[in-house]
Amino acid sequence: MTDFTMEKGADGVAVITWDVQSKSMNVMNQQGFEDLDAHVQDALADEAVKGIVITSAKDSFAGGMDLNIIAKMKESAGDDPAKGLFEGVMEMHGVLRRIERAGMDPKTNKGGKPIAAALPGTALGIGLEIPLACHRIFAADNPKAKIGLPEIMVGIFPGAGGTMRLSRKLGAMQASPLLLEGKLNDPKKAKMAGVVDEVVPADELLDRAKEWVLNAGDADIVKPWDAKGYKMPGGAPYHPAGFMTFVGASAMVNGKTMGVYPAAKALLSAVYEGALVPFDTALKIEARWFTNVLMNPSSSAMIRSLFINKEALEKGANRPAVDDQKVKQVGIIGAGMMGAGIALVSALAGIKVVLIDSTQEAADKGKAYTEAHLDKGIARKKVTEEKKEAVLGLINATTDYDALKGCDLIVEAVFEDMGVKAEVTKKVEAVVGEDCIFATNTSTLPISELAKASARPEQFIGIHFFSPVDKMLLVEIIKGQKTEDRAVAKALDFVRQIRKTPIVVNDARFFYANRCIIPYINEGIRMVKEGVEPALIENAAKLVGMPLGPLQLVDETSVDLGVKIAKATRAAMGDAYPDGEVDEVLFWMADEGRLGRKANAGFYSYDEKGKRGLLWEGLEAKYPVADEQPSLVEVQHRLLFAQVLEGVRALEDGVLEDIREGDVGAILGWGFAPWSGGPFSWLDIIGTPYAAERCDQLTEAYGDRFKTPDLLREMAAKGQSFYGRFGKKAQAA
Ligand code: NAD
Repeated sequence: MTDFTMEKGADGVAVITWDVQSKSMNVMNQQGFEDLDAHVQDALADEAVKGIVITSAKDSFAGGMDLNIIAKMKESAGDDPAKGLFEGVMEMHGVLRRIERAGMDPKTNKGGKPIAAALPGTALGIGLEIPLACHRIFAADNPKAKIGLPEIMVGIFPGAGGTMRLSRKLGAMQASPLLLEGKLNDPKKAKMAGVVDEVVPADELLDRAKEWVLNAGDADIVKPWDAKGYKMPGGAPYHPAGFMTFVGASAMVNGKTMGVYPAAKALLSAVYEGALVPFDTALKIEARWFTNVLMNPSSSAMIRSLFINKEALEKGANRPAVDDQKVKQVGIIGAGMMGAGIALVSALAGIKVVLIDSTQEAADKGKAYTEAHLDKGIARKKVTEEKKEAVLGLINATTDYDALKGCDLIVEAVFEDMGVKAEVTKKVEAVVGEDCIFATNTSTLPISELAKASARPEQFIGIHFFSPVDKMLLVEIIKGQKTEDRAVAKALDFVRQIRKTPIVVNDARFFYANRCIIPYINEGIRMVKEGVEPALIENAAKLVGMPLGPLQLVDETSVDLGVKIAKATRAAMGDAYPDGEVDEVLFWMADEGRLGRKANAGFYSYDEKGKRGLLWEGLEAKYPVADEQPSLVEVQHRLLFAQVLEGVRALEDGVLEDIREGDVGAILGWGFAPWSGGPFSWLDIIGTPYAAERCDQLTEAYGDRFKTPDLLREMAAKGQSFYGRFGKKAQAA
């Protein structure tokens, strides 16, 4: 069965239908390209065919390219992967260019056959690049459909002509949010943006496309860029207006990416250089830049973590083989900041929620969070009144524990206190059924300790959400010593229902994400104490792709939370506690009342409206800046190794069982330099021998917290990479 079939109608229109049998949404692979090309060539050569419509048998057009194929293309290209990739991309260009030229005479632009794309729904990536090569794009009026080129989000760019065609069709300025931010539109907005040509009722889609094909003349099918005298809308680079666009875009891209994302820069270079030459040469330029990006280790690491592995984890790569554990009714105890967020995402996923707090007022306040969220959606016309009623109708806000009777999952989100949590566990277990799984959302208390309050520790588990719950994509699932498979499966099925990405880790102090982010924050504070220029610390972090510098992160999460965690950790570790220097700064900040953003005063200054300004001057008065400053790279390495080494130790300790989870969790959980693909991918990019060498140097200069973990030392000696050593096991899992 091939992915494309063709039917030649008596009316003279050949309809090519895309329908990948094994998938709910079409994705393109190499064979697909060959089949599409063969059908197009057949129809163009057939005198009885007057024109072609390319459509899909599904309710969407296509979800994009199968990115596994790109990875394979590179692997199978042997000694010269760049050549293999470039040739592969040029073949793709050839297929789409044959559609675009449709048999026209190259000199007169006459004699071609009209080709229309008819999109029943979502059209992403290659699913839009094919239509862009057609002569007219019809989209069904399907408000749920998403149309766009999201490649940049996984570290590549639209490399099948999308970059050249869209920038030429719309002009560089109009195309830039679509190309550089991967902005997706529904069909009506896509029409307003000039991406699609017509939005028509779904049941008329095919007829309207056929009608156009049968009536189109020679002039209707020549692309502007193939016609004489073509000028780029908004101006090409050496036009005064175009010049402004490109200078602005270049500054914007560098400002946003800090220069660490190769794809955005390469895309802009391709558009700029492509705009200066005829279209076929422009396609070659695009192919060269695309190859350049695909050859960059950052893009393969991003594709691996943000696309392939993220999806694998979402589909349950590490789910125990237990029956379906989909949640029917969830009980959430504690309707504070986290409980309210968990209730919201659960109800949005259609799950019935019992939301409990100690007073009716607090429970209602928790439910009101969902109402406010839906009201915002209504104001933006994304949510209807009916939807709001339906979602709110799923949440029962109460103080009555008896209401929990029918729940098959409990998520406890009460105060972070062992005693309070133990009492709640007992109260809940007295009413729920024997099969009910009990999860705690604690961020700092050991799961195995909390499980001691449970009569069924094998059904007790950690489901750790991040704040704000509705925005953060990661959920960390923590197995206690006695947690059994069904609890893990339940947690994973729940996370899947609410459409987040799970990682499953074992129980140890701060689990995985917080374990790695705390040393990052501490390293930043430690540098302040040493006299490193605070602006250097913050900028070094951002220039290496961290979303927030460590000092800003403390302000956001609050200085008093830091103090609380430091005190608890010190109490637990006793003499082995290594962060006294950090605490000195942190406790002083707390004494000064500089508690962070919430106090409008922290490591940064804030104006009366809460807008963040410059770093606080008082910091330098207390901790004078040293005359000699470290290099940018030295500061960056301290900040990165502080996190990454904790990740390696988590793997050594068995807290992490799968490096894919370590990488995906780091990017989604705390924004670890996404360009790197995550901590383990970063170590692979710099190479384990160099990483071990740097650790030795950092240990010598700054102390034992940078000590090379035994695992890294061994891998460095053997010249191993993390994905080489652990990737195969992860794939087999
Ligand atoms: P919060 O103070 O906003 O909410 C706690 C809620 O629990 C309050 O509404 C309180 O009235 C209620 N509560 C307390 N005792 C109760 C009882 N016995 N029965 C019923 N309700 C009770 O706290 P939060 O920030 O939502 O945190 C809740 C949990 O989530 C904590 O364990 C915390 O460590 C964890 N957590 C917090 C974050 C975060 O960023 N805030 C992130 C991850 C996990």
